[in-house]
Amino acid sequence: MPYHQITITIPEQFKDPLLRKLAELGSLGSLDQGHTITAYFPATAPLSIIVGELQVISLLVNAAGHDIPVRIEHSLLPDTDWNESWKRGFTSIDIGERFAVLPPWERPSGSRIPLVIDPGMAFGTGHHETTRSCLVLMERYAGAVKKERFLDLGTGTGLLAIAALALGFRSVVGVDTDPLAIEASRRNIALNEAEKVELFEGEIDRCEGDYDMIAANLISGTLAQLAGEIASRLVPAGIVIMSGILKGQDDEVVEAAKNSGLACIERLADGKWVSLACRR
Ligand code: SAH
Repeated sequence: MPYHQITITIPEQFKDPLLRKLAELGSLGSLDQGHTITAYFPATAPLSIIVGELQVISLLVNAAGHDIPVRIEHSLLPDTDWNESWKRGFTSIDIGERFAVLPPWERPSGSRIPLVIDPGMAFGTGHHETTRSCLVLMERYAGAVKKERFLDLGTGTGLLAIAALALGFRSVVGVDTDPLAIEASRRNIALNEAEKVELFEGEIDRCEGDYDMIAANLISGTLAQLAGEIASRLVPAGIVIMSGILKGQDDEVVEAAKNSGLACIERLADGKWVSLACRR
């Protein structure tokens, strides 16, 4: 069966809601490449409705006058191209000192810890700066905490939760408000034989007790809003990793963390993204 390929150029800050919308519209999968999202739909999908919805988004974003105007292009691809484009967009990647993230169709090679990820509709293949920085900081600070309990707030594909288990955390929880993320995480937990990871669909209030390390790769506004809730779930000597912060918005998150009793001990920049490591 042929597929519709829709390519959307959009400013970075609108990518998350766009990916959500594409999933809602029945996309089979999407590739996230900087300012460009490429989404695939079955040939039977109602193209005019989908493009119509995207045009509404485009009008709203463009009317607000952002630096990158939204552009939408679509074409019909023969069956084989869809699989091939999808696979070309997601290749294995070495991260930090110890990790290699691989798609299910690649075999692990070398001595790195393999994290096998089938992204489905969820975020987190290791190709995004924010995910990479989280893994680097997790690796860097895992030795400084007790490694009893780990919380991945906004788990996406489950990648950070699976990595935490590989780093030796005894109990790992992944939470996400998006049911598609929970579905993807469940699949990836099975692929990695990481069944000890517990998953909850919902907000941070689903998480009881306290944690030695918390990773939250969200966005600045949400991090600032949840800083108090996050801090209240941290053991006294614990570490919080916050990511998803655009350069220039990091001071606002550091300030919110400070107001919740957390001190920033490292700011790690990668491209236009900043990640923080904080402790009490
Ligand atoms: N942890 C992964 C995915 C990050 S993307 C990684 O580092 O690559 C952010 C995820 O957080 C998305 O899956 C989104 O659905 C989820 N999310 C956004 N706001 C949330 C909230 N308030 N509580 C829980 N999850 C949230």
